Amino acid sequence: MKFLGYLLISMIMTATSSAQDKYVTERNHMVKSQLEARDITDPATLKAMREVMRHEFVPEFLRHLAYGDGPLSIGYEQTISQPYIVAYMTQELKLEPNDRVLEIGTGSGYQAAILAKLVDTVYTIEIVEELGLKAIETFKRLGYANIQTKIGDGYHGWPEVAPFDAIIVTAAVKEIPPALIEQLADGGRLIIPVGPKTFQRHLVLVTKKGDKIKKQKRLPVAFVPFTRH
Ligand code: SAH
Repeated sequence: MKFLGYLLISMIMTATSSAQDKYVTERNHMVKSQLEARDITDPATLKAMREVMRHEFVPEFLRHLAYGDGPLSIGYEQTISQPYIVAYMTQELKLEPNDRVLEIGTGSGYQAAILAKLVDTVYTIEIVEELGLKAIETFKRLGYANIQTKIGDGYHGWPEVAPFDAIIVTAAVKEIPPALIEQLADGGRLIIPVGPKTFQRHLVLVTKKGDKIKKQKRLPVAFVPFTRH
């Protein structure tokens, strides 16, 4: 009887780990074919993309598509970005282990989880309450202890905990919110999708050195719009 019990337990454990293994394989394939095959070369970014369980951040009925080469719906008319865009934006921020990073647009929490693997602390703000609460629960469930989440409008940044070594905005703006540039530390980097219309947007990389603010246009992108209450 005891033996049968052990056998059953070990069969269940094998089944569970092979289900996880399926995702490990899919994740490694995603990194190889979608990231390394393009221009993602930063080892730390690639490692985080290999580790974070993207399928845990998407609605259950879309899980089988979690490692595909595109964005996915997360409800409330919002999306989790394409893995390549998540990796590209992360790589552009040139993060260091002691950095403190602000994200505007928590959404599913996936981008914040990638950042959390690379830096000391991630502060993230989400305007849709339901999404913010869900992300908080996901961070807790998966053990991301270095992410602080706030529900509200990120337009004014998070002055109480500024400055930040890096800021990432994952919703598209027409103009860069001035508070975000102000809240960058000296040497800080900000990446943000900017443009007047859905198909006329680019990622812009802003760097701050002393009084000097440099803006560089990067990839053309499509992003959900930045909203205000
Ligand atoms: N980084 C997310 C992508 C989310 S899509 C992820 O990895 O899943 C962009 C998110 O920005 C949406 O959830 C949207 O509700 C949020 N957003 C839009 N305007 C905002 C604002 N003013 N302040 C905070 N969040 C905002």
